Amino acid sequence: MRARALPSSSATLPEASFLFSELSSYLKREEVSELQNAYLFSQSAHSGQFRKSGEPYISHPLAVASILGKLRLDTQTLTAALLHDVMEDTHISKAEISDRFGSPVAELVDGVSKLDKIEFQTHADAQAENFRKMLLAMARDVRVILIKLADRLHNMRTLEAMRPEKRRRIARETMEIYAPIANRLGLNNIYQELQDLSFHYLFPTRYRVLANATKAARGNRREMVRMILDAIKQRLKVAGLDAEVSGREKQLYSIYKKMVEKHLTFSEVLDIYGFRVIVKDVPSCYVALGALHSLYNPIPGKFKDYIAIPKANGYQSLHSTLWGPYGTPIEVQIRTPEMHRIAEAGVASHWLYKSSDADLNDLHMKTHQWLQSLLETLSDSTDSLEFLEHLKVDLFPGEVYVFTPQGKILALPKESTAVDFAYAVHTDIGDCCVAAKINGENAPLRTVLRSGDRVEIVTASHAKPNPAWLNYVVTGKARSHIRRFLKTMQYEESAKLGERLLNQALGALRVDPQTIGAAQWEKLARDSGAKSKKDLLADLGLGKHLPAVVARRLATPGVSVDGTNGANDVITILGTEGMAVQFAKCCRPIPGDSILGFIKKDQGLVIHIHDCPAVSKIKGNPDNWLDVAWGKDITRHFEVSVKLMVANERGVLARVAAAIAEAGSNIDNVGMEGDGVYTTMTFMLQVRNRHHLAQVMRSLRRISEVAKISRMKG
Ligand code: MN
Repeated sequence: MRARALPSSSATLPEASFLFSELSSYLKREEVSELQNAYLFSQSAHSGQFRKSGEPYISHPLAVASILGKLRLDTQTLTAALLHDVMEDTHISKAEISDRFGSPVAELVDGVSKLDKIEFQTHADAQAENFRKMLLAMARDVRVILIKLADRLHNMRTLEAMRPEKRRRIARETMEIYAPIANRLGLNNIYQELQDLSFHYLFPTRYRVLANATKAARGNRREMVRMILDAIKQRLKVAGLDAEVSGREKQLYSIYKKMVEKHLTFSEVLDIYGFRVIVKDVPSCYVALGALHSLYNPIPGKFKDYIAIPKANGYQSLHSTLWGPYGTPIEVQIRTPEMHRIAEAGVASHWLYKSSDADLNDLHMKTHQWLQSLLETLSDSTDSLEFLEHLKVDLFPGEVYVFTPQGKILALPKESTAVDFAYAVHTDIGDCCVAAKINGENAPLRTVLRSGDRVEIVTASHAKPNPAWLNYVVTGKARSHIRRFLKTMQYEESAKLGERLLNQALGALRVDPQTIGAAQWEKLARDSGAKSKKDLLADLGLGKHLPAVVARRLATPGVSVDGTNGANDVITILGTEGMAVQFAKCCRPIPGDSILGFIKKDQGLVIHIHDCPAVSKIKGNPDNWLDVAWGKDITRHFEVSVKLMVANERGVLARVAAAIAEAGSNIDNVGMEGDGVYTTMTFMLQVRNRHHLAQVMRSLRRISEVAKISRMKG
C-alpha cells in the first residue's frame, strides 16, 4: 500500500514523541506502541477540535497522559488518559473503545466521563466534603480519580485561556474538591500544584505580591542555603553515609496559609529553611538523624518519627527541626528512596507499573493491600483515625450521594429509595409523595437510588403514607414518620369504627347513645384504663374491648328507651374505613357477598365471607362476632383471587390479560404453574363488586383456551 501524505493536523506532536521516549524507560516496546495507537486514535477523533488556547485538542489528553507517566502508571491508565475525552466530545462509544483497547480501558474512560457529567455549580463549603466523598464513591477504580486529577491539573495549568469568572469558579472548585482528594490519596506533588494554581486564580494580587517577595528573598537566602547544604553533606560523609541532600522551596500557598493561620509575618515564615536527606535504608535514616543532631542542636519537641509510626496515608520519614547558623530554624526530612516515592505519589505509588497483566483483580488486590497496610499502621493519633474514617467511606461507600432539583447534595445510606429521599428533604414531602423522577425520568417510589442521581419528588396534597413503604425504606427518619402517621391514622379510624360498633350494640339493647352523659363516659373510660372517651372508642375499634360488654355497662337503668330510634342492627361496611376494617386475606370478600364481621384483638374488625372455611375454625366468644352488611354506593375496588385453567397455547397470557382489561379490571399479581398441556394461572384482580367480577369472568370464558375459571375463597 502506498503511504498517503498526512494533513498537517494529524502529524504527531513533538510532545508526543517526547512522551513515548520517556515511557520506554519503564514500559515494554509493545506497550509503548499500543499507546501510540491510542494517541493516533484519539488524535483523529478530536481532529478539527481546538482548545481555548488555540492548540489542537489532542495536546490536552497528551499532557494528561504525561502527568500520569511521571507517576509511572500502567498502560491501561495511560491509554485511558489519552482517550479520556473522546466519549464526551466525539461520536466514539464505549463499545468501540472496548473493542479496540479492551474493556478495562473502556471502563476507565467511562468512569472519567461520568465524573465529568456532574455539574459543579458554586456550592457552600459544607457541600464540598460531600462532593469529595461522592467523587470517590462514584469512581470504583482509584485510577479513574488519578486520571481525573491529572485532567484537572492540566486544565488548571492552562486556565489563563478562560474568562476571569470561569477561572475563579474552576479554581474554587479545585481548592475545595480536587486538591483535598489529591492530598487524601497522598499525591503530594499534584496536591501542592493544584493548591498553588488555585491560589493564583482565587487571589491574583496576593499571589503576585508573595511570588515577588519570595523571589527577592531567594537571592538573600541562596548563600545561606548553600552554606547549610555543604555543612550537612560534609557531616553525613563523615558519618559514612551516601546521601542525596537538597534544599526545599516552600510552596506559595503554604507560606500564605502559615501567615494567615499562625499570624506570622512573611519573613517569619520564610525564615525557616527546609532540607531533605535521602539515604539508602531505614538504619541509615537514624544514623543520619544522629549525625545532624550533632551538627546543629535539635529544637526540643520538634522531632517526629513517622518511620516507626507512619501517617495513615502511608507517609514515612523522620522530621526534626534544628537551630542552624545565626539561630535560623532548619527543618529536615530524612527518608529512603522508597519512602520518597510514596511521599510524592501516595496511592499512585501502589499502582506503579510492574507487570503487563495488571488486570482488575490485581488492582483490587492492590487496593486491598493498601488499605490493609493502613489498618496495620493505624496509630493512636486522632488524625489517622479521621483519615481512615473518611477513607472507608470513600473507597467502600456505605452511602449514596444524590442531588435535589436545586443541586443540593444529600447523603443517604446505601439502598435508600425515593421515599427515603423524600423524607430526608422534608417530612411533609415524605408524607405526601406519590411519585418520583430520577434523572428526569419517571420512577417508582421504591427505586433504589445511586450516587449522582438527581431526584425530584412529586407530591399530592391529599396523599398519605402507605404502609407498604415500610417494606423498603432504610432510613430511620422515613420509618419513624411512616409509623407515626399510620398510628395516628389508625387511632382516628379505630375511634370512628368503635363508635359505630358501640352504637350498634347499644341499639340492640334499645339504648339511645345520645342519652349517655359525659360523667358516665368518663367513669367508664377510667374503669377501662383509657384516657378519654375517644381512647375508649379507639380501643373498641381495635377489638381491645367487646362492644356488647361496654354497651351493657353503659346501659344503666333509666336511660333505656323504647321504640326504633336506636342504631342499626347491623354494621354497614363502606370499604372506606381504612385500617380499622380489614378484609380477610383468606376469602377476600367483595360487595355482594354475604359477610360476617369478627372483632380481632388489636386489629379491629375483620370481614369474612359467611361460608369462608376459616370462619368455622374461629371459635370463641359469640360477642366477637358481628352482623355486618355492605353499604350502598361503594365505589372503591376490592381485591379478589381468580384461578384459571388454560390450554398451553402461544400468547394465551396476553389474551387473558386483554380480556381482563377489557372488562375494566386491573391485574395486581399473576402466578403461573404449567404442567404440559394446561397451565394454571392465578390472578389477583381489582373489582368493584360481584357483578363486576361476573363480567370479568364472562369476558374470560369467551377465550377458547380457557378451560375452567373459579374464584378462590380460602
Ligand atoms: Mn479532559
